[in-house]
Amino acid sequence: MKQIWFLTGSQNLYGEETLRQVAEDSRTITRYLRKKLRCDLVYKPVLKTPAEITEIMKSANKDDSCIGVITWMHTFSPSKMWISGLNIISKPILHLHTQFNRAIPYESIDMDFMNLNQAAHGDREHGFIYARMRKARKVVAGYWKDEAVIDGINTWIQAAVGFDACRNLRVCRFGDNMREVAVTEGNKVSAEIKLGWSVNGYGIGDLAERVALVTDAEADKKIAEYRDRYKFATSDIGSVREQAKYEIALEAFMTEGGFGAFTTNFECLHGLKQLPGLAAQRMMEKGYGFGAEGDWKTAALLRVMKLMADNRATSFMEDYTYNLEPGNERILGAHMLEICPTIAGGEVRIGVEPLGIGGKEPPARLLFDAMEGEAIAVTLIDLGNRFRMIISEVECLKPEKPMPKLPVASATWRPYPNFRDGVWGWIVAGGAHHTVLSYAVKTEAMEDLARMLGIECVVIGKNTDMGRFETDLMVGELIWGRE
Ligand code: MN
Repeated sequence: MKQIWFLTGSQNLYGEETLRQVAEDSRTITRYLRKKLRCDLVYKPVLKTPAEITEIMKSANKDDSCIGVITWMHTFSPSKMWISGLNIISKPILHLHTQFNRAIPYESIDMDFMNLNQAAHGDREHGFIYARMRKARKVVAGYWKDEAVIDGINTWIQAAVGFDACRNLRVCRFGDNMREVAVTEGNKVSAEIKLGWSVNGYGIGDLAERVALVTDAEADKKIAEYRDRYKFATSDIGSVREQAKYEIALEAFMTEGGFGAFTTNFECLHGLKQLPGLAAQRMMEKGYGFGAEGDWKTAALLRVMKLMADNRATSFMEDYTYNLEPGNERILGAHMLEICPTIAGGEVRIGVEPLGIGGKEPPARLLFDAMEGEAIAVTLIDLGNRFRMIISEVECLKPEKPMPKLPVASATWRPYPNFRDGVWGWIVAGGAHHTVLSYAVKTEAMEDLARMLGIECVVIGKNTDMGRFETDLMVGELIWGRE
C-alpha cells in the first residue's frame, strides 16, 4: 500500500521532556488520521536538525511506496534547517497547519504549555520557507480532527496518487493522430519532461498479429463473461467475438509492455475488421486509459484520473451536440463507441451497428446512458509553450428522451456556472472536444495535481467569475508562458 510520511519539525532547544511530548502528540495525530485517510500514514521521528531533515527527504525520494510527505511544526523549527531537505524532495508536499490542542486551556496555561504548542508561529516560519523557495505545496489549515481538514488531506492524497501514476505511466499509441486534427496533438517530449508520461507508437499490425493468435475458444470464454455482465441486444455473435479477441489481444499487449493507456484511430485499422469498440470499453472498465483518434493526452489523463478515482465513474468523453432550447440547454456527449461503462446509470447492453465512418465492419459496442450527478470534464491542451489543464464543472442530467437511432453510450450534462458561460469559457480557453468525465474526482484534486505537476490549471465552475475569465487567461500567459 502506498504511504504518506508524517514529518514533525522541532529543534533541540526545547529539551528532552518537551521533545518526548512532541513525539507523543505527533504519534497520536498520526494514529487518528491514518484511520481517516485513503492511504497509509506513517509516523516518522521528530526532526530536530538539518542533517535529520535532509536524510528523511533523501529516504522519501528513494522509497517507491512513499507518494508524499506531510509537514507540521508542533514547535518552532528554524526553517534554514529545512532548506537542504526541501531542495531535494521530489515527492508532493502538504503543509498541515494545525495544533495539538483544540482549545486554549485558560486555567492552566503556563510557559511550558507555550513552549510546547507553538504551531501558530512555528508553522509561520515553516510557511515562509516554502514561499521563499517557491516550493509547490498544499496548505491545509485547521484542527486535525475536523472533517474539512481530513477532506483536504484526502483530496491531496488523491492527487498524490495521480502524481505517482504520472511518474510511472507508459502510453501505447496504435497508429498516429487522426489526420489534420490539432487539439489532440502535442509534444511528447515535453509531456515526458513535465508530466512523466512516456508515449510511444506501435503499428496497428502489431495488435492485429496478436488478434490472429487468439482462438475462438478463448473468445467464447470472454463472451460468456459478457453474458454474465451485460444484456445482449444483438444476435450477431460473430461481431462480438471479434471484439472479444481484440480485448484479449489488447490486454496481453498492455500487460507485456507495462502500458497503462492506449489510443486507436479509425483511420488506421489495417489488419482489423472493426474499430475496437466493445474492446476499448472493456479495457477502460478495467482501469486502462483510452483516447480515440490517437489522442494520447486524454488517454494518459484518463488513466491517471481512473487511478485517482479507484476506477469509479470515470470515462473518456466527447462533446457531441447541443440542445439550445431556452431554459433546457444541455450538452449531449458520446463517442463513436468508446465510453466507459463505469459511468453507466442503468442497464448496459451489447449492440452491433454500422459505424458510418471508416469503412469497416459494424462493430460491437456497449450501450447505456450515463448516470445523473455532479461531475467534472477535464482536458489537457498543448499551447506550444506549456500544457494547460481545463476543468469544467458540470451537472450530469437524466436523458430527456430515448434516442433509438443513436446506438452509442451517451451522457447529458449542463456546465456550471450556466450553459452559456460554461461553453463560452471552454471555447475561449481552447478546451478540446475530448475530455475525461469523472463523477469521482473533484476539481480540488485536479488543482492539487496540476500544482504538483507545475502546470497551468483553469477552472470553469460554480465559483468562477466569468467577467474576469479572459483577464485570468492573459495573466496565466504571463505566469506560465515563460517556460
Ligand atoms: Mn473523437
